[in-house]
Amino acid sequence: MMNMNAFSIAMRQFDEAAKILNLTDDQVAMIREPRRMTEVNLPVRMDDGSIRIFKGYRCQHSSVRGPAKGGIRFHPDVNPDEIKALAFWMTYKCAVVNVPFGGGKGGVVVDPVKLSVNELERLARRYFAELADLFGPNQDVPAPDVNTNPQIMGWMMDTYSMHYKQFVPDVITGKPLELYGSQGRSCSTSLGVAICVREMVQHEHVRMELKGARIAIQGFGNVGSHAARILESMGAKIVAISDVDGAYENQDGIPVDKALECMRSGSCKTLKNLEKHCKVRRLDDPMKLLEADCDILIPAALEGQITEENAGRIRARIIAEGANGPTAPEADLILRAKGVHIIPDVLANAGGVTVSYLEWVQNRTGYYWTEEQVNKDLERIMVHAFNDVMTTAKQYKVALRTAAFIVGITRVVKAAEMRGLYA
Ligand code: NAD
Repeated sequence: MMNMNAFSIAMRQFDEAAKILNLTDDQVAMIREPRRMTEVNLPVRMDDGSIRIFKGYRCQHSSVRGPAKGGIRFHPDVNPDEIKALAFWMTYKCAVVNVPFGGGKGGVVVDPVKLSVNELERLARRYFAELADLFGPNQDVPAPDVNTNPQIMGWMMDTYSMHYKQFVPDVITGKPLELYGSQGRSCSTSLGVAICVREMVQHEHVRMELKGARIAIQGFGNVGSHAARILESMGAKIVAISDVDGAYENQDGIPVDKALECMRSGSCKTLKNLEKHCKVRRLDDPMKLLEADCDILIPAALEGQITEENAGRIRARIIAEGANGPTAPEADLILRAKGVHIIPDVLANAGGVTVSYLEWVQNRTGYYWTEEQVNKDLERIMVHAFNDVMTTAKQYKVALRTAAFIVGITRVVKAAEMRGLYA
């Protein structure tokens, strides 16, 4: 999944912002490292009767500003460094959009495609049961991430509710609507990305029309496919898309409904055979998607995609990081020097956790909102966060990524100081 250590990248990002803020050693010690990292071995009965052990993790990076918050990832490359980095980014993402959560992340080392639905359900339930003491509406509230979905959230919520003999919908977000998930949650990360793109193109240093802007999107899962649909509806032209199976380009525009139709057809739920659904050219190397001729690039797959090696060949003027950690620090420097505007992950993809927060609020009050209400709040929160980051970038004369960390770190460090030390 990545050829560099995600956690050391995260620490570098923290240190750069902390230095600008002149944080003391004590302040740094309070908020830099994860508070707790748990590793479990999960025995699961397979359909053939055998028992297989899966490795699982949950990292609670911070609960200074509220319960830990962050998704659960099922992927063969999940490892402790990656989970710690993702948990760290959640702490600062929640602080950037100013929702009352800390940061966490979980994962299981598994290729879910190789499991039957029943095996997947048993694995999800065992993971949640094993870590039930850590989770809770006031302690740690997970959500979906790569290869996990509302159905899996439903199984996890049920496991927790059965364990504690009460209905606890607010223990997890990203649930199906039938189990009190929020309207708008499935598109929220993508809508947040689109809002950031819309704000960025209007910025005085960019001044680009969104109508007709050419967009390339890496990853066509939850984040990438909805982002394509929403941005197309805002007038942009999707000129290149990719997924784990391959990358496709058409400078005249790829109709997003045809790509979605392709995803729905066939059993593998990929863009395989997209050529049969619309006019596209398949690129020989999926990574070439990143170098496509476009105005805006949206990495929406995995971390560590934009590297020192390929950054120089990127042609986009704006990069909106739908994925977490897609850009290596060396690549950041190259892109900055080229004048590329990078909307960092902790801002660009914060729409998901924002609506997760709204879901948690609805679960706690038992009163449910319309999609219009949810999206109105999402819009307000995202635009506010975008402006906070822009103002901070101007004030400190730094790139947007560092500015976002300055905003987030300032909020976390102040909360940590106001709380003081227990005992
Ligand atoms: P997903 O599993 O729904 O989709 C991932 C997509 O990436 C799939 O289309 C997959 O085929 C593709 N992919 C995987 N490896 C690839 C490769 N090497 N090249 C091209 N495509 C590849 O996951 P998702 O929920 O859309 O998450 C994507 C990213 O967004 C992750 O970094 C995740 O942490 C981040 N994110 C997700 C949310 C959310 O609400 N789902 C919120 C914030 C951030």
